[in-house]
Amino acid sequence: MKSLSIIASLALLISSVVAQEGATVPVTTSAPSTYTCDPNTCKIENNCLCASTSAPGGLSPADTPQFVTVTYDDSIQEALMATALGMVNVTNPNGCPGHGTWFVSMQYTDFSLVQQWYAAGNEVADHTFSHVGTPSAEEISSVKEMLNAYAGIPYSKIQGFRAPFLNYTKDTLGLVSQQGFKYDSTASAVTDDMYWPYTLDNGLANDCWTGICAAGQVKLPGLWEIPMYSVLDKANVPQLMDVYLAGTPADTTQWSQAAFDKHYNGNRQPFGIYVHPTHLTTYPGGVDDPKEKFNAVIDFIKSLAAKPDVWFVTNQQLLEYMKKPVKASELGSQTYMQCQQPVIAQDICNGLDDDHNGVIDNGLINSCNFGTTSMKTCFNCPATAPSLSNPVPASAAQNGTAGYRNRIGDNCDTTWWDPIGNKCLCTTADCEVKSVAVPKSETPSTTNSTSVTPGDAVKDNGAAQIAGVSTAVMAALFVGLSQLL
Ligand SMILES: [Zn+2]
Repeated sequence: MKSLSIIASLALLISSVVAQEGATVPVTTSAPSTYTCDPNTCKIENNCLCASTSAPGGLSPADTPQFVTVTYDDSIQEALMATALGMVNVTNPNGCPGHGTWFVSMQYTDFSLVQQWYAAGNEVADHTFSHVGTPSAEEISSVKEMLNAYAGIPYSKIQGFRAPFLNYTKDTLGLVSQQGFKYDSTASAVTDDMYWPYTLDNGLANDCWTGICAAGQVKLPGLWEIPMYSVLDKANVPQLMDVYLAGTPADTTQWSQAAFDKHYNGNRQPFGIYVHPTHLTTYPGGVDDPKEKFNAVIDFIKSLAAKPDVWFVTNQQLLEYMKKPVKASELGSQTYMQCQQPVIAQDICNGLDDDHNGVIDNGLINSCNFGTTSMKTCFNCPATAPSLSNPVPASAAQNGTAGYRNRIGDNCDTTWWDPIGNKCLCTTADCEVKSVAVPKSETPSTTNSTSVTPGDAVKDNGAAQIAGVSTAVMAALFVGLSQLL
């Protein structure tokens, strides 16, 4: 069975283009696994961890935090980002905002929004340049280059990969490892293979029915696999991405709740919500408004966030935990779970509203037009449209001219980098920061949650304000999609 079937629930144009991820997943994983791993030799101090359904660090389930990872695939655009932000508009037990991970493909992506997504504490990861099933090395490496050049993301912070169509192969994983990524998150976990994240020193332990676990297949020391955890629908068919496309909102909430309970009342393996934001985004003139589906997903997310030991984290935060597991009661004080923003007097093109006037990077974002295509960035516009063979063309502006933007180096993080001043505003540990944590009790009540639109949800976020979708943006989006066809 297809784990993701394109159900004709949205405007055909959108669904036929963007419901791209699909993977064939068997109902059971009873095919014999050839995976073996000896925990006595594979130790975390050597960046090795065996696949296991038990919590890391020998913690009991009651002491183990329940992680929820919300991940998003494909391009980042204004309306899609509003939807995505609405899905992590929750407060973690330590008062910090929940965060998610976006696997970004380059075509039609707004790089100024990528920067804002990252600056708000979320993660960006690699989903290839042009969304191809068996990517070349350039399809993968060009994403890193563009995210660095046009969104100001340090190379070291781009750590994850997901294969388009969930169509990963031994060769693709090999490229991912060669290019220095820290993890892949494409394999699927169904029932008895609901493993916590593990390293591929001893190969894959998921999707073994395909033969990928056999000796001589994948063996990539130090590369983590974060399995995607499926939800079983009423016919016991595993649904991986866009679960809400497989039934009514009430159905999919019920299946998702049952799947979550299996994790939460079991060994607390992370629970995932994997989406293409386009399926939950209301478009002007759209044939089938997904607002009802979106509201059901938001209600489900809020109900999970109301639990005292549930944490909405990025994949990078999850891996930090895997390397040094602590009790749930100690998680909130870990460095990687803090939420701080720099104190800077004026907007500097860092993805934040530093001067608190309600507009991020006020007046600093460049619109780059290349005739038939365009893109936005807080860095220099390239003189020509980026392409697979030349993802970062020479910039249109000359160094030394007014407004020239300098690329970020790996000794600075995005929120501190002033691309116009060409300096890192924080190079020591004592830079002035403010926490954006709020008391958990301020989280909106979940019991009587009412209709939430993406725009409304975002207004509460505080980390970023995304305006409503303009008709022009929509027109551009539809043009972009039709080009993909
Ligand atoms: Zn995709």
